Amino acid sequence: MPIPSWKSGLQEIAENVFAYVHSGVGWDICNSGFIVGDDGVMVIDAMMVASMVDPYLEEIRKVTDKPIRYVVNTHHHVDHSFGNQFYLPAEVVSHQGCREAMLARGADVNMLNEQFPQYREDWAKTQLNPATITYQDKMNVHLGGRVVELLHPGPAHTYGDTMVYLPQDKVLFSGDVAFHYLTPLARDGHVSNWIKVADGIFKHLDVTTLMPGHGPVTIRKCLAKP
Ligand SMILES: [Zn+2]
Repeated sequence: MPIPSWKSGLQEIAENVFAYVHSGVGWDICNSGFIVGDDGVMVIDAMMVASMVDPYLEEIRKVTDKPIRYVVNTHHHVDHSFGNQFYLPAEVVSHQGCREAMLARGADVNMLNEQFPQYREDWAKTQLNPATITYQDKMNVHLGGRVVELLHPGPAHTYGDTMVYLPQDKVLFSGDVAFHYLTPLARDGHVSNWIKVADGIFKHLDVTTLMPGHGPVTIRKCLAKP
C-alpha cells in the first residue's frame, strides 16, 4: 500500500483537545498536542527549537489565553524535550526515567551540531530543562473537570515513556510508542516489550483516537487487528 501524505497543522480531536501534526518525515520534528483546562493548558511534547515552538505558541494563543501550566515530555528524545525552555514557568512533567535520561545524556552541543547542523544557532542557546515533577507508574492530573492520566507502559520506545490518556474522551497521545507511516527509531528502547505494549494498548485502554509521536492522527478502526 503506498504511503499517503498528510497535512501539517492543528486539529481539534476532542472538545478542547488539540493535535499539532507535522507532515515532515524527518525525526527532527515531532507531533505535539495540548489540552485546554478550566484554569490552564497542558502541552504534550515540547518539540525542539524556537523556530518550531514559536509558531506553535501562536497557534495555542489563537485558541486560548489561559496560561500553560504543564508540559509533559513523553520521553527524553531531543525532538520531544529540548523545547521545554520555551514554555517556562510551566512545570515540566515526565516519567522518572525520562528525567534521568535527559540528565545522563545532557545537551552536547557538538553532537547536536553533527546530528542537526541546520539548527546550529539554536544549539548555542539550548538549555536542558528536565522535568521538575516525575512519576513511576501512573499519575493523574486534574485539568478542571478533565482527568488526564499519565501512564508508563514499561520500557518500549525508551525506558522513560509516557502515554497521555484521556478516558472521558477516549483519546491517547502515545508519544513515540506509536509511529504512523514512519519507521520507529528503536535504539533506546526494549523492542520485544514494545511489541507487547503495542498489542496491549487496546486491551487495556478504551481508545478511539490515537495521536502518534510522528505521523497523522488515526482512529481505532485503522489500528485494530482484523
Ligand atoms: Zn523518540
